[in-house]
Amino acid sequence: MSNSKGRWALIVHGGAKEIEPHEEEANRTGCIEAVNAGAEVLARGGSAVEAVEASIRVLESLPVFNAGTGSVLNNKGEVEMCAALMDGSTLDVGAVGVIKGVKHPVSVARSMLRQDPILLSGEGAFMFARDNHAELCDPADLVTEEQKEAQDTVGAVALDQNGNLAAGTSTGGLSGALKGRMGDSPMPGCGFYADDHIGAVALSGHGEGIARLAAAAQIMGSIERNGPEEAIRKALEQMHRVGGDAGGIAIDRQGRAGWWHNSPDFTVGMLTSETERPQVWLRKDEDIASHG
Ligand code: ASP
Repeated sequence: MSNSKGRWALIVHGGAKEIEPHEEEANRTGCIEAVNAGAEVLARGGSAVEAVEASIRVLESLPVFNAGTGSVLNNKGEVEMCAALMDGSTLDVGAVGVIKGVKHPVSVARSMLRQDPILLSGEGAFMFARDNHAELCDPADLVTEEQKEAQDTVGAVALDQNGNLAAGTSTGGLSGALKGRMGDSPMPGCGFYADDHIGAVALSGHGEGIARLAAAAQIMGSIERNGPEEAIRKALEQMHRVGGDAGGIAIDRQGRAGWWHNSPDFTVGMLTSETERPQVWLRKDEDIASHG
């Protein structure tokens, strides 16, 4: 079905947010590190699912991103995280919502991938993680000073050498959100989607707005016609109807990668089998200027 055999592509992001000048370097180097981890998987013929998990695990370990270590706190001062992985070759979805006490929510989502339920939340998600040998931790270990006010999700989208696509998200949600709140990040069709016949997408930003628009579904509906960047741009144009900023990354089934955001900043890293080194941008203006 795909004409991309042998080619691969990977795109990651560090969240739709505003980046302080002193955090720019950490955002850039973090995204490059995440790209390198996923690209290593794809270059040796590994799967898109494995690559997306590898990239997101790096972002979850770095305190500059609101995912895993460095997650923001809810209104009760706790870290509650959401994450998802989708395999475009089988349409399997694994997702966890408001999970606490795990180091890598995306790996719990990966363990869920071949299970019948697509989404587990709260205590049930934690029990599943424990029973499936996830790396557990004290919830307080995930909190850093810098992240108490931040708002952003991380995400990755990959196309592997067999033409299979995958998308993943991971987030600590929105700072000060109601305990138990879930945004778009663990909801297929909202914060992410992947289908080998069409493309794959991951979003970040105001989760309630993204979910109300079913933004991932909108992007999947127009990616073939518009290409990834334009498909995301058109979906995000609708954000004014629901409020809030957002950003998205996508790859279509032919391996074309694209991204767009209406947040002040949105760090994106990208590498494909056709490019030699990872590229990284802090915002779309930098990408446009480099073509200018
Ligand atoms: N989309 C995430 C959420 O609403 C957070 C973010 O990306 O800013 O939970």
